[in-house]
Amino acid sequence: MRTQRQVVDYSLQKRAVLRDVHNGRVGTLEVCDASPYLKNAARFHGEPTDERCPVCRRDNLTLVHYIYGDELKQSAGQARKLAELPVLAMTLSEFQVFVVEVCRSCAWNHLTEQYLLGRDALTVDELDRGEALASSAAGRHRETGPSSQRREGRG
Ligand SMILES: [Zn+2]
Repeated sequence: MRTQRQVVDYSLQKRAVLRDVHNGRVGTLEVCDASPYLKNAARFHGEPTDERCPVCRRDNLTLVHYIYGDELKQSAGQARKLAELPVLAMTLSEFQVFVVEVCRSCAWNHLTEQYLLGRDALTVDELDRGEALASSAAGRHRETGPSSQRREGRG
């Protein structure tokens, strides 16, 4: 996504953990501790990858995207499908995304990266296109049946 900013990459930390696991300094139980919530999030909202689990090599990794930010209100901290993020990025000015990789086989999990998304990062052109997309989705293309009406604040 072009609007990603303040990207923090955790691959170095991940490599360090995996090195310790492969050296036997850290037990697999300590790192393969995905909670039931995280496993559920992987199953229902996860993004499949072609990357093998670095610990058990039995299954491919699944990426789970967690979103945080004041504007999300009760949705903060929820896992979202990757495809939902650009839509949120059009409607919210800023929110934080945490990407966690999970193995659904052995429960290995690690934060891989975090970044900010939102309208604040969009150029005027992108905003115009976003508005155009949004209004055509709400108007002429009725057959697609947009489920979410735009809710304006009372103020
Ligand atoms: Zn695994």
